[in-house]
Amino acid sequence: MSANAPITQDVLTLPRKLPEGGKINLVGLTRDQMRAVLIEHGTPEKQAKMRVGQIWQWIYQWGKRDFADMTNLAKAYRAQLAEHFEIAIPEVVSKQVSSDGTRKYLVRIAGGHEVEVVYIPEEGRGTLCISSQVGCTLTCSFCHTGTQKLVRNLTAAEIVGQVMMARDDLEEWPVPGEPKDETRLLSNIVLMGMGEPLYNFDNVRDAMKIAMDPEGISLSRRRITLSTSGVVPEIARTAEEIGCLLAVSFHATTDEVRNKLVPINKRWNIEALLNALRDYPRLTNSERITFEYVMLKDVNDSDEDAHRLVELIKGIPAKVNLIPFNEWPGAPYKRSSNNRIHAFANIIYQAGYASPIRTPRGEDILAACGQLKSATERARKSRKQIEAETGLSS
Ligand code: SAH
Ligand code: SF4
Repeated sequence: MSANAPITQDVLTLPRKLPEGGKINLVGLTRDQMRAVLIEHGTPEKQAKMRVGQIWQWIYQWGKRDFADMTNLAKAYRAQLAEHFEIAIPEVVSKQVSSDGTRKYLVRIAGGHEVEVVYIPEEGRGTLCISSQVGCTLTCSFCHTGTQKLVRNLTAAEIVGQVMMARDDLEEWPVPGEPKDETRLLSNIVLMGMGEPLYNFDNVRDAMKIAMDPEGISLSRRRITLSTSGVVPEIARTAEEIGCLLAVSFHATTDEVRNKLVPINKRWNIEALLNALRDYPRLTNSERITFEYVMLKDVNDSDEDAHRLVELIKGIPAKVNLIPFNEWPGAPYKRSSNNRIHAFANIIYQAGYASPIRTPRGEDILAACGQLKSATERARKSRKQIEAETGLSS
């Protein structure tokens, strides 16, 4: 499917069968882990490192899912691999394409759980917004995902698998022998979907390391942004072990308000968070931190808030990303007016910080930040309603 594909709404494909159990999935393993399982299943120890290199390239550089395609491996060895291993990624259950080109995928992971993945095309680039958990254990009061109980953490395979799934859909795997296309449709990743990535640290790290690996998907660490609500003890580790860009869901300028909006603030307050953030750019070699700030009418959007915000972030290389609140059914807040958002942005800008206002993308398919739960549940509800009305059940 190309970027100019016709606009479709709610293309529901019936789920295919889940991968057969019993085989070890090679996706999501670090190189060391892959080496260990290969040896365990008959690859001679002396060859293992080289085999990892070859298989890795087939999976992550060329996007192959079938051992039979791995033509630089002996036929018998390919068969041996197929006996013990599989190359499996989450399954696309449905795909919706917005009138602005945004694509929202609902993918199914083991156990029948579903998570959402959003692809946002932009001029000369494109960003994939991926999920790290099913639901979220945190309960930010403006976020619909936060009203969903956590079901579980995603595995590294399920996290990097979202990237592989999107590359499949965008038809973006290079073809051996043909020159690589330098402008990528999927050029950036943001960990801003469902879940708190720093509460699933190891899997997020392993998945992002795979996405960054130069002999594979090969995305620069500067093209990956991890968004956290403020899990302070994991911030230094993020710098050291992942090295990607960091965004933080700041959203308030006093502890009193932040306690209500982002309750993790009761555990690690604004001061503790800012202290952890101060070290981040140094540890990752001078990158700006993105402060995300959701604009909620009469809650956190006054001129005083803007001035306080500027004071708080003083000394931290930063940009402030203002997010107009995306409403969902029953949400206890309203979006600030455009005038208010612009006035707020201007105060921050005058203080010397970039203060872009995030344009909601994919609103017609409920793909905007913080709406990811409602979309799935609504689809489910409407399917249920249809069943009730027609007397049919699936
Ligand atoms: N759990 C992580 C990442 C996911 S959310 C985090 O909280 O940072 C990505 C961004 O969207 C966060 O800044 C989040 O606070 C914001 N967000 C959540 N719900 C929203 C809504 N309804 N409208 C606008 N932004 C929202
Ligand atoms: Fe979880 Fe982030 Fe939503 Fe808060 S904003 S509930 S941390 S997904």
